[in-house]
Amino acid sequence: MRLHIKCPNCGHPATSTRTRQPSTLVTEISYSCGNSACGAAFVLLGEVHRWLRLPTQIMTGLNVPLSLVVHRNRLRDALDRLRTADLPPAGEIIGGPDDEVPNATRGDSP
Ligand SMILES: [Zn+2]
Repeated sequence: MRLHIKCPNCGHPATSTRTRQPSTLVTEISYSCGNSACGAAFVLLGEVHRWLRLPTQIMTGLNVPLSLVVHRNRLRDALDRLRTADLPPAGEIIGGPDDEVPNATRGDSP
């Protein structure tokens, strides 16, 4: 990740030096000011604030609000109109071997 951040003290471009992720939604990035006469170093805090587009599969326990640009009613209506597909005996293939969903475990059909 490359962000063009300016030093809050002198306005010179700053360079990121380290990152760490204290939680799933939060990233800290340390920066050093490029102005040697200033010498400031600081931490930028970044947090996932809202979904602009829903992921195909949301991790359980991830509590990120939806942006107003996501039309909940359209999504709800679209999901309500879709029927659940019949799966082959081998189950569903999503992306890889770990993503296979056995036919017997699908239980969200009406
Ligand atoms: Zn500075």
